[in-house]
Amino acid sequence: MLKCSLCVNDERTAKIDIIDGKPICRECQVYLKHPVEGERIRKELDELMKNVDKAIVAYSGGKDSVVALYLAKEVYKVPELEAVMIDHGLMAEEAIENARRIAEHLGVPFRVLRYDYSDIFRNALLKGQSPCRACSRRTMEKLRKYAIRKGYRYIITGHELPFGHHPYRLMSGGVIQIRLLSMMTEKERFEILKKLPFEFLELPGYTTNCLVLGPALELYWEKHGHSFEHRRIAALVRYGLMSRERAEKELQKPKVPEWQWEIVKKKLGIDFPRVP
Ligand SMILES: [Zn+2]
Repeated sequence: MLKCSLCVNDERTAKIDIIDGKPICRECQVYLKHPVEGERIRKELDELMKNVDKAIVAYSGGKDSVVALYLAKEVYKVPELEAVMIDHGLMAEEAIENARRIAEHLGVPFRVLRYDYSDIFRNALLKGQSPCRACSRRTMEKLRKYAIRKGYRYIITGHELPFGHHPYRLMSGGVIQIRLLSMMTEKERFEILKKLPFEFLELPGYTTNCLVLGPALELYWEKHGHSFEHRRIAALVRYGLMSRERAEKELQKPKVPEWQWEIVKKKLGIDFPRVP
């Protein structure tokens, strides 16, 4: 099977051509023609952040949102911040406590808004699909409404940049989402995490807080033979934000512990068929 020589895409996840004797995926070919200008994006972000005097941080308590909260508070020194966590109903309790501890450590008010996304999760798991897009869409919408209700214009998130060339996005109602981790390498993120009382939770998938991701990945793997995070992780490798070695590890079939499956099955009220 052909494998892209620049990222971790292979024939299962992307179209691959041989260019000058090297296999290169279509996504990397687009990137080579229109490279992301890291310097320009970082400058754009700095300019944007100068105007931010009041913002909420979309705070899942995962690594990336913790780094975003740190940057907003300690680097950009946003005067008025609130860390808002949307609990979709299947967040690890330890992760919520971890989130609370870090927000307190940084002196940022912390709020948890609890919802039940069982409909999204049940649907995705039964179909062997990724729940991530529907989940994050609903979460951003809840945050947007919260921002409007509370008079915030900015929502800072821990997203990186893979699919867009600006570090911000205009949402309806005049709210602006700022992707504060645009172009930040994994190494830079870890340097920041080391300074904080962050306790990593060992969970399958690219997450430190979500209990649904592992089971969803496992079911998807059984159906498709690869991870639904493949393209996203390939983009991180392409942009030099994640090492190839680490990416290969993230893309292996996860081993979801029995206790995690039990929580998910109980919450969703379904006994998912699993291939042993
Ligand atoms: Zn590639």
